[in-house]
Amino acid sequence: MTNFSNKVTSLVSENAQCCCELSLVEGPTGSELKRRIQELCGENVLECYQCGECTAGCPVAYAMDIAPNQVLRLAQLGLEDEVLGSSAIWLCAGCETCATRCPKGVALSRVMDACRQLALERGIKPKEPEIAKFHDQFLTEVKRFGRVHELTLTALYKVRTKDFFSDVFTGIQMFLKGKLALIPSLVKGRDEIRRLFSRSRHGSEDS
Ligand code: SF4
Ligand code: SF4
Repeated sequence: MTNFSNKVTSLVSENAQCCCELSLVEGPTGSELKRRIQELCGENVLECYQCGECTAGCPVAYAMDIAPNQVLRLAQLGLEDEVLGSSAIWLCAGCETCATRCPKGVALSRVMDACRQLALERGIKPKEPEIAKFHDQFLTEVKRFGRVHELTLTALYKVRTKDFFSDVFTGIQMFLKGKLALIPSLVKGRDEIRRLFSRSRHGSEDS
């Protein structure tokens, strides 16, 4: 997190006397980053006043390279590479603890989602590639079956990551306890689900 302090400090203009004036300084793509985040998830990152409540309650913050509130600060400053290249956006578990604690009503988990999407759109290599592969495989399963089939998800995820042996005993125990179904169950309305995927990808129902 020292890098975060250095980066922010280096952006303080010569005339800025305190951190409150940081809002006067932003990176070259600052407005664009804020605009795209708001467009994708409806959240205005400028609402955040850096109280840190989100980070204090986040169960995954200890593992992130920048804390949840720092993701928002860097987004306010328009530091796209730092935000979209961080591990934080991939490690976020979407638990919503931050959103329930935020006095400004910022749904940080939605911002994290938007940042993941932007990172993929812009071809930025995920700092946590296994998590990115899991997301992709999870969504592929939902698109195909209408819900996740855990056995297929696990098998294909392991093929993609070439990690065949971690958690193997946990998997066997789950299978023996009937937690992993052999045959995928299909839900009704799979065409509608596919159309939703198509709309989200192309922005039109008929694409
Ligand atoms: S709790 Fe809300 S206002 Fe406080 S730092 Fe987090 S996002 Fe910003
Ligand atoms: S939604 Fe993400 S950022 Fe928010 S508390 Fe949960 S893991 Fe942390």
